[in-house]
Amino acid sequence: MFASTFVVAGAATACASIRHPVKGNAKVRSAALGARRAVTSRGEIRALSSERRSSPRASKSRLGARRASPVTPRALDAAQPFDFEAKQRQKVEKKRALKIGIVGFGNFGQFLAKRFIQNGHDVIATSRSDYGQIAASLNVGYYRDPDDFCEMHPDVVIFCTSILSTEATINAFPMQRLRRNTLVADVLSVKQFPKQLFLQRMPDNFDILCLHPMFGPDSGKGSWKDLPLVYDKVRVGEEKSRRERVDRLLSVFADEGCRMVEMSCEEHDIQAASSQFITHTVGRMLGTMELTETTINTKGYESLLSLVNNTSNDSFDLYYGLFMYNKNATAELSRLELAFSQVKAQLFDRLHTLIRDDIFEEAAQPSGLRGAGDGDAESAERSFKDRLIDQVNVGGSLGGSTDEKGGGRSEREEGATR
Ligand code: NAP
Repeated sequence: MFASTFVVAGAATACASIRHPVKGNAKVRSAALGARRAVTSRGEIRALSSERRSSPRASKSRLGARRASPVTPRALDAAQPFDFEAKQRQKVEKKRALKIGIVGFGNFGQFLAKRFIQNGHDVIATSRSDYGQIAASLNVGYYRDPDDFCEMHPDVVIFCTSILSTEATINAFPMQRLRRNTLVADVLSVKQFPKQLFLQRMPDNFDILCLHPMFGPDSGKGSWKDLPLVYDKVRVGEEKSRRERVDRLLSVFADEGCRMVEMSCEEHDIQAASSQFITHTVGRMLGTMELTETTINTKGYESLLSLVNNTSNDSFDLYYGLFMYNKNATAELSRLELAFSQVKAQLFDRLHTLIRDDIFEEAAQPSGLRGAGDGDAESAERSFKDRLIDQVNVGGSLGGSTDEKGGGRSEREEGATR
């Protein structure tokens, strides 16, 4: 609609200038007519030609009628909000397609490529393996050779490689073949590590954006509404076009409904270690237990099964990367281990107390009261208790526990924890 307004306005100007053609100069006149044809719609050409053919009197009366008719504003200089044009231009700019290059066309790379294409962007990809057929089916240009990929000069290059392989991939990447102000980004599930890599290895004139979509091909299969997208604009040049390019990329996630969270890479890693890494660890532990459906599944159990399901499709490389390349992960793993020991100790402490009460009750009973002839059963019972106590002691999980009745720890417990 916007463009057609311009055409009509242009046509009006052209018509005004050819209404007084230069007499006697056939070349100029035909050029003017050509211009008129180029800028007017077919209907208007017909009207103008018939006007030229008709008599001067008829044409005069038509002119009068036209003058008498109310003025219809058809040009852009008609009243508009003062920033109308600027706003329209911004809208068009924002929507302009990016050429997005994906490095690492595995599970997550393909998942992102589909959404970028759905959002009207052009996508090319490169990867260690041959994904030519899959790429073609997704309408993605595939270049096995990273040199060829770079020579396509993508506006943005996004590293979707495994955390473990990213450093080697970047080291071997021919970035000198990219345009000199390319925007590089990554989607690694750890953030401080790629940020440092980019700052160390990428040319100074590249812009750097670190992203972490906190969802994957399973959890983000359908809508991305309210799913978190963490981003850190690590280095973006001052030019308007550079800032707009970053915004255009982020707008893919924003338009899909993601919850946009701007956060430093360092803060991301602190928070992700205690949320994402723990989630993956528990999912893997439960997966190792090979939990199965029961006929009496509770809602809680269903959640556990779905946690196993959500994490088991991710590669072990990804999980190991979450541990190895996030310096906060070790502390979180220790906290998880300690918490498990404490919970276990609570259970076994209770057992200890019961057994102890039992022992002292028995000791307080005069031996004469004990039934004669039941010595064998008694010794069998003692050995059962002993076995239980041994089991608790071997578990070595009494540290930090409290005696429910006395509030302190018995000598036996102290001994067990040494
Ligand atoms: P992944 O196992 O972490 O990574 C697979 C990708 O890494 C493939 O493109 C693979 O290339 C490439 N790769 C692996 N080893 C390589 C090597 N030695 N040299 C070159 N390339 C190598 O699985 P992913 O799920 O696709 O994850 C990709 C990235 O996205 C990871 O950094 C991950 O942290 C991040 N991420 C994943 C999720 C998710 O839910 N999956 C969510 C958010 C972020 P080839 O296939 O060509 O071998």
